[in-house]
Amino acid sequence: MTKQTHFRFDENTFEYKPIQPDSRDKWVYSVIHWSLSTVLVTILGYTLLGKLTLSPGELSLSQENQILLGELLSTQTKISSLEEHLAALQESDNQMYRSILGMPKIDEEVQMGVGGTDIYASFDLLSEQASQILRETQSTLDKLERQTGRQSLSFEEIKAAYNKNREKMKHLPAIRPINGVLLSGYGVRIHPVYNRQRMHDGVDFRADVGTPVYATGDAKIRSAGRNGTYGNLLILDHGFGYETRYAHLSGFTEGIRAGKNIKRGDLIGYSGDTGLTSGPHLHYEILKDGEPVDPLNYMFADITPEEYLLFREISDNNPMSMD
Ligand SMILES: [Zn+2]
Repeated sequence: MTKQTHFRFDENTFEYKPIQPDSRDKWVYSVIHWSLSTVLVTILGYTLLGKLTLSPGELSLSQENQILLGELLSTQTKISSLEEHLAALQESDNQMYRSILGMPKIDEEVQMGVGGTDIYASFDLLSEQASQILRETQSTLDKLERQTGRQSLSFEEIKAAYNKNREKMKHLPAIRPINGVLLSGYGVRIHPVYNRQRMHDGVDFRADVGTPVYATGDAKIRSAGRNGTYGNLLILDHGFGYETRYAHLSGFTEGIRAGKNIKRGDLIGYSGDTGLTSGPHLHYEILKDGEPVDPLNYMFADITPEEYLLFREISDNNPMSMD
């Protein structure tokens, strides 16, 4: 195969001179190389210029936007925790105060009809991300506003009902009988000794032998003594159909005897391990008109809504009782 010879016109000598093939390749390579570099530099330049040509005002606005977006997101987190707090308040109101005072439960969130108009449409003028965050935040705030309104109404109702029933409220069991950890709740539970499902008529608090036990409402002592599988048992008659029972005690406070009147918070005895148990604890029962009820709903005078939810979760999820 013969190589083709290419010529170049030399302006000095006015003649065509052959070009060496390899030097021609180098020349073509250089041209391509420079063209590509120019294109790359131009693209890079435009990109950089795009940023640099933002006026100082625009630049500070763009930074401000970033900060505002961050603030919005953190506000959203705070609102969520407020929402949880309100939900806990509503739950404890319904389960404790309202049910005990014989009041109907607070209505759940009623969906508000907005007649097909989008009340948050003005946010759509903003960037998609900002618009979405603002929509969510505003709608949650609106919901919270309605919920807070209902809650404060409920609070007024509870206060009124409480004032009307002052004497009864003093007698109702309304505090924790012991400063111990709630271990098992009311309802069907696996019995720790018989190892089969049985109705658990009370709640169990884990407590070392000798932990003080208190009367949970004003009452008259019905009985204090040994009582089969209950071990040392104290029964209080609160009137208004209410009775409380404190089981497995290690002993009673001096002067505790049937017929004596006592006040809420009085020391009545000490927790123990007597009777049929799987370890030291206090078994606490409340009876209303002779029927056991869930004691967890009768601790409203000294637990917070959050504690109530925590106790409820422990109580509902532990399948075992200590009996
Ligand atoms: Zn028990």
